[in-house]
Amino acid sequence: MTRIVGRFAPSPTGPLHLGSLVAAVGSWLFARAAGGRWLVRIEDLDAPRVVPGSADEILAALKLYALEWDGEIVRQSQRSSLYEHALQTLRTRGLAYDCGCSRGDLQRAASAPVSAEPIYPGTCRDGLPPGRAARAVRFRAPDQTIRVHDVIHGSIEENIAERVGDFVIKRADGPYAYQLAVVVDDAEQGVTQVVRGGDLLSSTVRQVALQRALHLPTPSYAHLPLVLGPDGAKLGKRDGALPLPTLDEARVRNTLAAALHILGIDVDAAPPAEMLQMALTRAPELHGKS
Ligand code: GLU
Repeated sequence: MTRIVGRFAPSPTGPLHLGSLVAAVGSWLFARAAGGRWLVRIEDLDAPRVVPGSADEILAALKLYALEWDGEIVRQSQRSSLYEHALQTLRTRGLAYDCGCSRGDLQRAASAPVSAEPIYPGTCRDGLPPGRAARAVRFRAPDQTIRVHDVIHGSIEENIAERVGDFVIKRADGPYAYQLAVVVDDAEQGVTQVVRGGDLLSSTVRQVALQRALHLPTPSYAHLPLVLGPDGAKLGKRDGALPLPTLDEARVRNTLAAALHILGIDVDAAPPAEMLQMALTRAPELHGKS
C-alpha cells in the first residue's frame, strides 16, 4: 500500500490567519490519521504579493501549534526549472500556446459585463494575431466534462472550456501560474492527499486537467469549510490575522480550539500537542458527508 502524503501549502502573503490555520490543521489531521507524512511547501511564486518575513512567521506559528512537518520545506521560488520543464512538455504535446492578449482585450471580448474570470475567447489559440507579441502562456483546455471526487463535497464536475476557457499557466508578468506550479509540485513531492481551503474547490478541475495532460497521478481531494467573517464574507488575509507577538499560551489554545471547531471537532483547551492528539482520535468525523 502506498503511504499517504499530505501537505500544507501557504502563500507567504501575510501572517497565518484563522482560514489558513484551518487548512494547516485539517491537512495535518487527515495525513496523520492515516499514518502518513505531512509536508509544508511555501508558495512564493507571486513575488509582488510576497511579504518579506511572513514565510518564517508562518513556520514559527506552525511550531507554536505543534504542527510538525516531515522533511525539508520546499519553496516554489526555487523550483522554476521544474515548472519550465512541465510547460515545455505541454508545448510539445500541443497543449500550451503563447497568448498576446492584454487584460483590456479580454475584458472587451467578455460577453458578460466584467465577470471576475472572463471566459477566454480563444483569440490566440491558432497562433498569435499579426503584430502581437507573446505575453502569457495558456493551457489548451479540453472541451469535455471532467469529474473529480472530493472527500467532503462528493462528486464535482466541470467543463473548463465552458467555464473559463484556455487558462494561463505562465503569466504575462513572468511567474508560472499557481495552477501549473501546484500540479507539478504535488506530483514531484509524491503528494497523495490534498486537503485545503474550500476556496480552492473551483481550481480543482483545472488541476486535474493539467495532471492528465502531463500524465501525472491525481491525488485525493478534500476541501475544508470556508472560514467566514462576521459579515459572512470569506475571511481574507487582513481579517483574523494571528500575529505571533500577541500569541500567548491561552490565545494559542483558544485559536487552535476555534480551528478544530470549524473542522467539526470540539476538544478542551490544553497544550497544543495534546489537543491535536485528542483531535486525531476524532479524525473520522472530518470526512463529513462522504
Ligand atoms: N497557496 C495556496 C493558498 O495559500 C494554497 C494552495 C493549495 O493548497 O493548493 O491559498
